[in-house]
Amino acid sequence: MRAFAVVLPRSLEEARAALAEEGSVLKAGGIDLLDRLKERLIAPDTLVSFRDVSGLDRIEAGPDGVRIGALVTLARIAEDPLIRERATALARAAGDAATPQIRNVATAGGNLVQKTRCWYYRHRDLPCLKRGDDLCPALEGRNRYHAILAYGRCPSVHASNLAPALIALDARLRIEGPRGARESEVESFFANDPADPARENTLAAGDVITHLLVPGGRGRSAYREVREKQSFDWPLVSAAAAVRLEKGRIASLRVALGAVAPVPLRAREVEAALLGKVPDPASVRDAASRAFAAARPLAENGFKVPMGIACLSDTILEAIGPP
Ligand SMILES: Cc1cc2nc3c(=O)[nH]c(=O)nc-3n(C[C@H](O)[C@H](O)[C@H](O)COP(=O)(O)OP(=O)(O)OC[C@H]3O[C@@H](n4cnc5c(N)ncnc54)[C@H](O)[C@@H]3O)c2cc1C
Repeated sequence: MRAFAVVLPRSLEEARAALAEEGSVLKAGGIDLLDRLKERLIAPDTLVSFRDVSGLDRIEAGPDGVRIGALVTLARIAEDPLIRERATALARAAGDAATPQIRNVATAGGNLVQKTRCWYYRHRDLPCLKRGDDLCPALEGRNRYHAILAYGRCPSVHASNLAPALIALDARLRIEGPRGARESEVESFFANDPADPARENTLAAGDVITHLLVPGGRGRSAYREVREKQSFDWPLVSAAAAVRLEKGRIASLRVALGAVAPVPLRAREVEAALLGKVPDPASVRDAASRAFAAARPLAENGFKVPMGIACLSDTILEAIGPP
């Protein structure tokens, strides 16, 4: 392995200064980053470890909702009583990810910025558009785990569990970088430009996610996923929903899907179909199927369509709760 340096900044300012150096990359928990390093997909000169940066490992409740530091681990998100109560979908998404050991190390920020698990991307000897080659073998090759919706030349899926839950909860990200601080909706944080498959989000060089901002007032929420194994696995499909009822009718609804597209996908057509309605299992299932009306399954992943409809309708019904 090529030698690299490790720096351990103690403040965000020190970390940002270290990241400004050519060849530096940010390491949070290191679950994804070290994987890519060991697979020789990346060869940084310096790892800027976020581990000791102060102030980014807190979960704080405020009048506007819950503020989660980017260094908070998935395990803490899954177990936190406040998040479990006010942002149930997020706690469940964090608790369903990976394994207990990984959840103890993996951070919220890293989970959103992790790279796709597409096996063509992860194999440095195979071509991949995300690595700058001019062809994608997944379209005609082995594509059981790939996208069925909203893909162009690259049908890899985004791997983050947290992302669909955060979209359903209408969360925002606080980002700090050389151009100053800004907030971004989670939905628009992810990039899905067929002309530039390598670009997965709107982070510019030196940008750092510092916080996840989860507002209150979105009502009850739920997250579900279907996977092949109970642990040590990524979802085949996932869904998150946040719903508020008034007099038995759906007064507000946000729905998002994971593992079916190159980005976590908000399903506005499902929201529109159910808004103002008195929901029942049949109407929810009918609405959920609209999210997949434009599906273009590949040779090996047609199973994701019925699986996605079932997962999404069960998630919405769980968020609505018993009649
Ligand atoms: C066996 C296995 C199963 C898994 N299953 C799942 C699953 O079911 N669901 C799921 O969601 N994930 C799953 N994962 C992936 C895992 O959750 C992620 O790799 C992890 O969350 C990444 O977080 P990290 O802190 O380790 O990030 P790192 O590996 O440290 O960083 C990942 C990337 O994010 C960047 N980054 C990190 N923090 C920030 C920040 N604050 N601002 C800007 N950029 C940042 C880094 O520079 C790097 O490019 C699995 C992983 C394994 C090994």
